[in-house]
Amino acid sequence: MNNLKEERTLVIVKPDGVQRSLIGEIIKRYEQSGLKLVGLKMIVPDEDFVESHYLVDPEWRVKTGQKTIDSYKKKGKTPPSENPIEVTAIILKNLKKYLAAGPVVAMVWQGIHAVGIVRKITGGTEPLTSDVGTIRGDFTIDSYEMADVDGRAVRNLLHSSGSPEEADKEIALWFKEEEVYSYRLNNESILYDINLDGILE
Ligand code: GDP
Ligand code: MG
Repeated sequence: MNNLKEERTLVIVKPDGVQRSLIGEIIKRYEQSGLKLVGLKMIVPDEDFVESHYLVDPEWRVKTGQKTIDSYKKKGKTPPSENPIEVTAIILKNLKKYLAAGPVVAMVWQGIHAVGIVRKITGGTEPLTSDVGTIRGDFTIDSYEMADVDGRAVRNLLHSSGSPEEADKEIALWFKEEEVYSYRLNNESILYDINLDGILE
C-alpha cells in the first residue's frame, strides 16, 4: 500500500448479522464514515475456508490462545488449557461452525486509516464490553461467558481486519483482484482536498 488514502480493510458480516437483518444498517455505518466500498459479495464459506481465513496471520494461534488464557486468569477463572495452541484449537473449531452456518457478506472498505476507522466503528470483540455507539455494542448482547457455557463462538456480528498487512492477506483470500474496484467517489474531494476549493460558484 503506497497511498495512505488507499488503505483497505476486510469486513465480514457473520451469519448472525445476516440473520438479524443488519446488513443494511452495518453497511450504512461504515459508508457514513466516509470510507469507500470497493468490493462486496455474499458467500457461504465452508469450514476449510474459515480456517484459512483465521490462519492468514501465522501468529494468530499463539496470540489468540495467550490473550484468552490471560483474560480467563484476570477474571479469576481457570483457562481450558495452559497451552495457547490448545485454547485456540477450541476457539477455531467453534469459529468454523459459526462462520460456515449460513451466508455471510464480505466487503472491502477503502480510505485513510481504513483498518483503524472500521475497528472503531465495529467495536471490541466481546459484545458485553464493546462500547455503546459501536455496531457490536449497539446490536448484540453476547459474552465469552455465555458462549463458553454453550460451547460455541461468541456471536459478535462481524469480522474486521486487525492491521493493514492482515487486511491485504484476507482480501486476497476472499476476493479476486478484479472483484475489488478502483473508482472515484465524489465524497473524496471533500474528505481529502487540501484547499476545499470548488465548493463556491
Ligand atoms: P476480532 O479481531 O475483534 O474479531 O478478535 P480476534 O481476532 O482477537 O478474535 C477472533 C475471534 O476469536 C473473535 O471474533 C471471537 O469469536 C474469538 N475469540 C477471541 N478471543 C476470544 C476469547 O477470549 N474467548 C473466546 N471464547 N473467543 C474468543
Ligand atoms: Mg481479528
